[in-house]
Amino acid sequence: MSTAALTDLLPCETDSPEATHALGRRLAERLRPGDVVALYGDLGAGKTQLVKGIAAGLGIPDVEVSSPTFTLVHEYRDGRLPLYHFDAYRLRNLEEFFDLGYEEYFYGDGVSVVEWADRVEPLLPPHALRLRLEHLGGDRRRITWHEAPPSPDGRQARL
Ligand code: ADP
Ligand code: MG
Repeated sequence: MSTAALTDLLPCETDSPEATHALGRRLAERLRPGDVVALYGDLGAGKTQLVKGIAAGLGIPDVEVSSPTFTLVHEYRDGRLPLYHFDAYRLRNLEEFFDLGYEEYFYGDGVSVVEWADRVEPLLPPHALRLRLEHLGGDRRRITWHEAPPSPDGRQARL
């Protein structure tokens, strides 16, 4: 995806889970086969909520989507594009990701979305869309996009 295609959506702040879901739905409209969305942010930042919105935007029923904490990847094939939802939280090493056959997903015809993308940083393709979600207190979250891996201090230049 051309990053210029997102300037009307990001960066942004949301004030509810529903607003983050809505952002995901709007992002989904812009996604193309082979796109990789890399999500960064702490536990509870809203990564899965955003993925649910992306899934809904692709036409995948919301009830189906949960965090693939124990399986590394969930595949959803009943939307406009296949969606490959990764959660690298419990990944022990990059080899596990190789063994999963990640290249088939990242360089395939679907959309890959990766929670805890920092765990697989070396394997992310150059065209990955990097989004960072941050708690701002209460239900507020800030969502930003980054050219390089977002640093914890947030000083990284934005696109
Ligand atoms: P993560 O996958 O990053 O660990 P989840 O999406 O699973 O996070 O959980 C986010 C939690 O925060 C949910 O319980 C959700 O209801 C809550 N929440 C509150 N405000 C927001 C918001 N603005 N955006 C996303 N989630 C929010
Ligand atoms: Mg999650």
